[in-house]
Amino acid sequence: MGGGAAGIGAAGAAKATDRDAEVTVFTEYEDAAYSPCGIPYVHGKEIPDFERLFLATKEAYRENGIDIHYQSKVTALDVGRKNVTVDGAEVGWDRLILGTGFNYADPGIPGTNLGGLYYVKNIRRAMEWDKVLDTVKVAVVVEASPLGLEMVTALAHRGIETHLVDKAPWALAEAADPDIAEPVQDSWAEMGVKMHWNTPARAFVGDDNGQVRAVRTDDGDLPAELVVVCTKKKPNVSLSAKEIKIGSTGGIVVDENMRTSHPDVYAAGDCTELPHGVSNLPIQGLSGSHAYAQGKVAGTCAAGGKRAYQPVYVPWGMVAGKWMIGGVAFGETLATALGIPFVMGVANGISRARYYPGVKKVRVKLLAEPGSLRLIGAQMVGGEGIKERADFLGMAVKTGITLRDLATMENVYSPPIGALNEPISVAAQNALAGLEQK
Ligand SMILES: Cc1cc2nc3c(=O)[nH]c(=O)nc-3n(C[C@H](O)[C@H](O)[C@H](O)COP(=O)(O)OP(=O)(O)OC[C@H]3O[C@@H](n4cnc5c(N)ncnc54)[C@H](O)[C@@H]3O)c2cc1C
Repeated sequence: MGGGAAGIGAAGAAKATDRDAEVTVFTEYEDAAYSPCGIPYVHGKEIPDFERLFLATKEAYRENGIDIHYQSKVTALDVGRKNVTVDGAEVGWDRLILGTGFNYADPGIPGTNLGGLYYVKNIRRAMEWDKVLDTVKVAVVVEASPLGLEMVTALAHRGIETHLVDKAPWALAEAADPDIAEPVQDSWAEMGVKMHWNTPARAFVGDDNGQVRAVRTDDGDLPAELVVVCTKKKPNVSLSAKEIKIGSTGGIVVDENMRTSHPDVYAAGDCTELPHGVSNLPIQGLSGSHAYAQGKVAGTCAAGGKRAYQPVYVPWGMVAGKWMIGGVAFGETLATALGIPFVMGVANGISRARYYPGVKKVRVKLLAEPGSLRLIGAQMVGGEGIKERADFLGMAVKTGITLRDLATMENVYSPPIGALNEPISVAAQNALAGLEQK
């Protein structure tokens, strides 16, 4: 069930594991296996058209023996009798893989039934909304979530007067530290974005035709011809069953083979929850790359093969405004809020040789466990090279690398691509120097 990253990853892996397996996919959408991740960049006109977001043709799946049913919503699931109901007909299965993804959290305020509220998800709807964007002069983005950051940047690129409202005091407040978000916010201000922090949306206000015209806040009504709702992702488990255990985050509980509490039902992607490698606490709402990898594990195991998925450390990164931000596991704010003790090192460095054209600033913060000095998290903002650092530091946290290791790491120095001093190493050296002074 599901034609997103998890469902398609699972279908391909099941077929690769057992060529004779009959693999059927149901998706309620018109398409499968397109990249929703690219949608904000088409809206922002960085990507010229939606067509290039499709990853494979419908024929390619057919030729590979995967039977995809489009616009086919599963309306009931009977785990005891091993069937699902689609278009009124019951379809049996030996093994079921749930890849039903996420829903945006209900904003929980009046006016959610108005026209003009855009939840970015399905590519066909995005194509329709893209035409609407041509006519929009002023828009409000609700919540500075990862998608919110992308959509603010996209709308501003498109020349739309863009307002951002969020109840938190800075952008991406649950994941990013304020000093990491600050350059992004400064660049939005340069792009003309109006930010409203500590300002929850209280209501969507409509006109006589049922179209949104404003977002009500404690600072007054913000005029809006369009509102992009970027609330948190919540696991879509509306079709789960009593035999399938749901965890504390609202996601489906799975083991390392992505098997649910029912032996013949697997789940993968945003409908699940997974243990965090540092805290061991379950988390949900991961990324498309997690969903695809989990789908491959679920598909392989459901078809009789062996593959395991490991706890997650969640390296992340994105472009927001004129900057890239990223990190892994815990930042200073999150670790403090959770009462996790840490020592920290910070460095402000550069991405290339200081004389090389295009050199960009890079700020790195490293957090480590006191005593062992094992890395437990990192935060970064810079003009380039943030993704590669986040991936590297994700592995560093996972494998138990310490600040001492990072302080003495080797690094590439080549004027167009790397500076003499790697900011990660300098941040580690600064942390050690700070400890020696104590
Ligand atoms: C705008 C946008 C930007 C994103 N940007 C990034 C990014 O930059 N990086 C990144 O890693 N990830 C990104 N993502 C990916 C994303 O956040 C998810 O992690 C990913 O889509 C999860 O994949 P999934 O297969 O679990 O769920 P989804 O992709 O949500 O797929 C769910 C599938 O389930 C189907 N479905 C649900 N219920 C039923 C039913 N009852 N019957 C039939 N079918 C059903 C749907 O039709 C759909 O095919 C982005 C997503 C969006 C929408």
